[in-house]
Amino acid sequence: MSECRFICDFMLGRLAKWMRLLGLDTLYYNNPGDPSILHRALKEGRTILSRSKEFMRYENSILIESENLDEQLEQIKEIIEISNPFSRCPLCNTPLLAVNKEKIKEEVPEYIYETHDKFKRCPDCGRIYWKGTHYKEITRKINEIFS
Ligand SMILES: [Zn+2]
Repeated sequence: MSECRFICDFMLGRLAKWMRLLGLDTLYYNNPGDPSILHRALKEGRTILSRSKEFMRYENSILIESENLDEQLEQIKEIIEISNPFSRCPLCNTPLLAVNKEKIKEEVPEYIYETHDKFKRCPDCGRIYWKGTHYKEITRKINEIFS
């Protein structure tokens, strides 16, 4: 499993966001019954994660059993490898780029600017990320589940 890429179907939006935070290339299809999901999975060699049995005919798919995020992460932890957390935009899956602090001065709250030195930007949606409170919570959860 050298290169794991995923697609989450419409019931797994939160899981998709978390997988991106973990650095995993994860698409999210938020339209129920979108027929292109299977085509995309085949074309790009992606594993489909779904709560519905409809994709189980596709060999490269995983039936997610729980509605609970922690349990979902527990279920997938056997098949994923976390090598580069916080490297992708949790909103759009695009790899983040480090950005020079001065360049984003106008775009983040002053307090954040004063107290942080490293920032990353999503080249697609433009969002800026830094290691704030959210980062600590996420790191704690990752350690809880994956260690
Ligand atoms: Zn983005």
